[in-house]
Amino acid sequence: MASPDCPRRCSSRTPALLLLSAIICFQQLVKGLSLSTEEEDAVKRFQEYLKFDTVHPSPDYYPVTEFLSEQGKQLGLDTKVVEYVQGKPVVVFTWQGTEPSLPSILLNSHTDVVPVEHAYWKHPPFAAKMDEGGNIYARGSQDMKCVGMQYLEAIRNLMSAGFKPQRSIHVSFVPDEEIAGGDGAKLFYESSDFKELNVAFVLDEGVASQDGNYKVFYAERSVWWFYITAAGHPAHGSRLLDGMALEHLRFSLNAIADFRKSEFDKVKSGEKAEGEIISINNVYLKAGTPSPTGFVMNIQPSHAEAGFDMRVPPVADVDALQKRLDEEWAPASKNLTYRFVQKDKVTDNFGKPAITAVDDSNPWWIMFKEAIAKAGGTLAKPEILMGSTDARYAREQGIPALGFSPMTNTPILLHEHNEFLNAKEYLMGIKVYEQILRTCTGPKDESGEPSNSKAGSGVLSETIHTEL
Ligand SMILES: [Zn+2]
Repeated sequence: MASPDCPRRCSSRTPALLLLSAIICFQQLVKGLSLSTEEEDAVKRFQEYLKFDTVHPSPDYYPVTEFLSEQGKQLGLDTKVVEYVQGKPVVVFTWQGTEPSLPSILLNSHTDVVPVEHAYWKHPPFAAKMDEGGNIYARGSQDMKCVGMQYLEAIRNLMSAGFKPQRSIHVSFVPDEEIAGGDGAKLFYESSDFKELNVAFVLDEGVASQDGNYKVFYAERSVWWFYITAAGHPAHGSRLLDGMALEHLRFSLNAIADFRKSEFDKVKSGEKAEGEIISINNVYLKAGTPSPTGFVMNIQPSHAEAGFDMRVPPVADVDALQKRLDEEWAPASKNLTYRFVQKDKVTDNFGKPAITAVDDSNPWWIMFKEAIAKAGGTLAKPEILMGSTDARYAREQGIPALGFSPMTNTPILLHEHNEFLNAKEYLMGIKVYEQILRTCTGPKDESGEPSNSKAGSGVLSETIHTEL
């Protein structure tokens, strides 16, 4: 077992001694976890990746790109680095299949991470420190540097086991997911580089599961950000008049609050999962006449504004929602207007809901499910993700994509303080990806099931169903 006073003994030394102490500490810790040499090495590579400070608002992507390219080189993978926007490289590895003409699979992850508030972290967020229980603390340990390295580790293990994929496997590392991916995944998925890969199935990120069942996501809610502006005439603060801007805005806020409650009630009663309802939250209010000491108290202002973050699942009736906005939330009769800051579509480029089928109509889903079972895992009921990821850019093109981060019995800490992942859970995730790759890209599974080559492009209508 690791010595509990190990961290203390590792401090206050010269750099050389510090390094030695760090190595001893690591060895003591991994001894407590009883890891094989290969597993120790895999954990070290994960820690190395976590140490790259790719934090917003100004991530430096070049050092991490160099590190990843080196990893790809070690594995003998074809490597391509493309910059659709300068300073924002996309790294794509390819493990060529024995039948490269078959539709391929893509394993995507992002290299950037969200900002940290250092004061709240018990270990520095870019030190990737592992505690005596095997928890590795770092920004990105769950979101989603774990997944990126697990893809590569799974490939490493499969290569050593002599596995040869029938269809090609591509692994992409993209920038800027945390700021909507406009300069990253979006441009990559729209590029001719991507088209050339002939991708039929994509895996991207999910979230940790607090119980023993892996979470998997088959769709995402679209972002609708807008603000409503109310206009009225200015007046003395003492007068009671109709048609005041703030009264109009209150009308709007009340209508939206009623709608929010009705949606929230569906979640509270258990009728719907959170990803299946339309969420709306008031994120700012702007009104009043500023004065040097605050606000002028005896003027009713002529304008007032409220901003909203709304998330819309692909199953929502968007025409009805738009009508609601026009007629109930921001009717012109109340001197209300609105403007979208962002309004993502809920359909793919073919006008169908951007949903990946999670039933027998989708051969990729069948194989994915099978692989999880073979890896000894169990899946929770598939869900619609509450937020957004780069997987939406794949679904937009009608390509089936699942959001999946193999972490069970782990608190959900993405974007939170003290984000960590346990080394054992990380290593288990590698095994899960090995099984996924074997099942989805191998010529045959061990039981002699028919070749998966029947899973064609997996694209478009036959894999999309609208009942979900
Ligand atoms: Zn992420």
